[in-house]
Amino acid sequence: MTLTLADVTLTYPDGDARLTALDRVSLDVPAGTLTAVVGPSGSGKSSLLAIAATLVTPDQGRVVVAGTDTAGLGRAEKAALRRERIGIVFQQPNLLPSLTAAEQVQVMAHLSGGSVRAARARAEELLDAVGLADRADRRPHQLSGGERQRINIARALMNEPAVLLVDEPTSALDHERGAAVLDLLAALTRERSTATVLVTHDLAHLDRVDGTVTMEDGRLTAPAATSCR
Ligand code: ADP
Ligand code: MG
Repeated sequence: MTLTLADVTLTYPDGDARLTALDRVSLDVPAGTLTAVVGPSGSGKSSLLAIAATLVTPDQGRVVVAGTDTAGLGRAEKAALRRERIGIVFQQPNLLPSLTAAEQVQVMAHLSGGSVRAARARAEELLDAVGLADRADRRPHQLSGGERQRINIARALMNEPAVLLVDEPTSALDHERGAAVLDLLAALTRERSTATVLVTHDLAHLDRVDGTVTMEDGRLTAPAATSCR
């Protein structure tokens, strides 16, 4: 299942005028592939993710998430689509201080119903997948920044999303840990067949992704110079 943005324009109020955050942006991300969106601060990268996440409605254009055109959906339907089909990894992990790593991941399943036992088994499987099987009982303050970001990723995968949206996951990490998180995202994208969009202003490690597009002043421009596999 694919993520498609077609000719998306998004404006924000800006005094008496409107600021164009996204200007006729089109992007197609097939299942099992990872696309990086790079570009300077303020160029519209997070806005693009907010649109793909159905958190913001475009002024114009189409957003199709895993076969569902979001144009006709109401609030509750969008919330259900987000819960069931979209995994979101924000820049800040926003983990709950009192919960263990396993509980942070499990809590996502409680939101969508299902048995506690199944949720626990899946949380364990995901912690293993992100290399944190031996950290399951730790709380956030007992984990490194990189480990917290991995939990964030495991949590986003809990409901088996078709689309995975990741905003600047490496900005708080050193070079080596940043590389490890990108390796992990590339591997998970293939294993779990997610259509993954990774927003980053960090041009390192982009040899791991399937394609790179550049955002500039709200426009997607020619691919940055990086190898596409
Ligand atoms: P990036 O993630 O690349 O830094 P953003 O998508 O956050 O860029 O922002 C793009 C532009 O839209 C910027 O000029 C920013 O100031 C503006 N912007 C972002 N969010 C809002 C908002 N909620 N209201 C008004 N302007 C916004
Ligand atoms: Mg941003």
